[in-house]
This record gives sequence, C-alpha cells and structure tokens, in this order.
Amino acid sequence: LNIINSVEEQEKLCKRLTDDNIKISLIPTMGNLHLGHESLLKASINDDYRIVSLFVNPLQFNNYKDYKNYPKTIEKDLKILKLHNIDCLFMPNEKDMILKTNHDIERKLPDFANILCGKFRKSHFQGVYSIVKKLFNIIKPQKAYFGKKDFQQLLLIKYLVKECFKNTIDIIECETIREKSGLAMSSRNNKLSVKQNRLAALVFNELVSLRKYLKNNNIDLFPMLREEIIKKLSKQDIKIEYLDILCRNNLNTPTEQDIDINIFVAFYIGDVRLIDNIEI
Ligand code: AMP
Repeated sequence: LNIINSVEEQEKLCKRLTDDNIKISLIPTMGNLHLGHESLLKASINDDYRIVSLFVNPLQFNNYKDYKNYPKTIEKDLKILKLHNIDCLFMPNEKDMILKTNHDIERKLPDFANILCGKFRKSHFQGVYSIVKKLFNIIKPQKAYFGKKDFQQLLLIKYLVKECFKNTIDIIECETIREKSGLAMSSRNNKLSVKQNRLAALVFNELVSLRKYLKNNNIDLFPMLREEIIKKLSKQDIKIEYLDILCRNNLNTPTEQDIDINIFVAFYIGDVRLIDNIEI
C-alpha cells in the first residue's frame, strides 16, 4: 500500500499511470472503514490501479462538533486497505484541500440538491461537490465508486461528472450494506448505544412496511402514512427529519405513472443523525 499525503505527489503518480495506459479507479471515503466501504473495495477488485482517498471533509459538515467528533480509526483502516490489496491511499491534509483551492462556492447546484439532506444541511452538497471535484482533478480516475446509501450524493456526483468531466468518469453505484437488523452501516452507528442501535433498526422496518404497502396501493396515500409513521416513531424517541418518496432518477415528486421510486429518510436517535433509502 502506497500512502501519499501530498497533492503534488499524487498528481505526479496519476499522470505517470495514465501515460502508461494504466486505468485508475478511485474510492473516496472519510475513513472509519466498515463493511459498507469494504463492499466498494470488493466491487473494484478487478480494476488496474485502485486508489482509496481518506479525507474528512470539513466543508460538508454543518456542525463543527460533528466534524471534530467524526470517528478516526486509521490503524484499522490501513489493515482493511491492505487486506483488499488497495494500491494507494491518498490522505491529503486540510491545508492543501481547503485553503489552497478555489471552491467555487457560488456555483449553483441543481434543484435536487436543495431538498432532502440539502434542505436540512445547508452547504453540505456544495462541500461534497467541491471536494470530490478536487479529488477527480488530482487523480483523474477512469472509474469512481459510490454507495447508494448516500443516494442524493450519488446523483450529485453523476451531475458533477456530466458538468465538469464530460462524462469521462464511470460512476459505479454500490448497493447499501446493512447490519443483520437492517440498519444501514454507517460510521455514525458507532455512536449509538446497543439500545439506540435497536431503535434505529425500527426505522428500516418501517421503510420495508411502507414499501410493501405502496407497492400494492395508490401513492396518494403516502402523506397520511407518513404522519402515522412519524407519530409512531416519535413515541420511541426517534425524530424523523424527513420522510419522502421521490423518483430515483431526478428526485422529482412522483406521479401515479412513475415506477422508479425510492423512499428517503433522515432521522435522529439522540443527537446522532442517520439517513437511509430503499427502492419501492
Ligand atoms: P463515507 O466514508 O461515509 O463518506 O462513505 C464513503 C463511501 O462509502 C460513499 O460512497 C458512501 O456512499 C459509501 N458507503 C457508506 N456506507 C455504506 C453502506 N452502508 N453501504 C454501501 N456504501 C456505503
């Protein structure tokens, strides 16, 4: 595993690889690797040269405490990367990624970046967009891997690739990996007590029941069902931030004719915020 901290060095290496016709794959992460991340590593197993980036991006946090407390487990992460035979770990510093970059913060993102997480986490997607763009410019990957767990982020990355990279980067979408209980794996799950972990899984159960119901019934019923679910979960101290059904291609409000629909949810257990989504 080749560990690189310097942007310049990473650029040089990637230029050399590209000149030698070696195809580069990138798997961006914020570290604290779990089985969700590992599924991305596995999906890239047959690629030529695999780079994992590890950068906890301050621009995408809207809460300083959340950023400062983001779990860091570098020794464990290194073991996982070696286990999966990753070629290179790019671990840049904040000075290079944040201060020495023109972040283009006035850029207007597509409307779908202003709903769901974009509505409740101001500037979150600007931060994601800016840093992933920077990573793509440094590394110039041919492929990049992202999880469907962060579905809205995935759509934004596809938009970025179209806007700024002429669709020359193949975005590989990976399924959401879940705990046995159904709870989507997340670095933030570490912050839950055993009891809270069980509560979080209740939200997944609700998504599954909702999916079953909406498959067989008119989606007009959704607003009513949503209120029932929110009420039911609030009795267990689960606070729903949003619960929506939207077309999965463009996050438009679905009509009766639409078939590609996902259910999206964000919720709080204590002060831990979690997100999830499933296909109907
Ligand atoms: P993060 O380190 O949380 O920024 O995540 C890095 C990448 O791993 C993103 O593309 C995420 O969507 C993906 N990821 C995180 N959790 C999961 C999961 N449970 N299943 C699949 N992919 C995931």
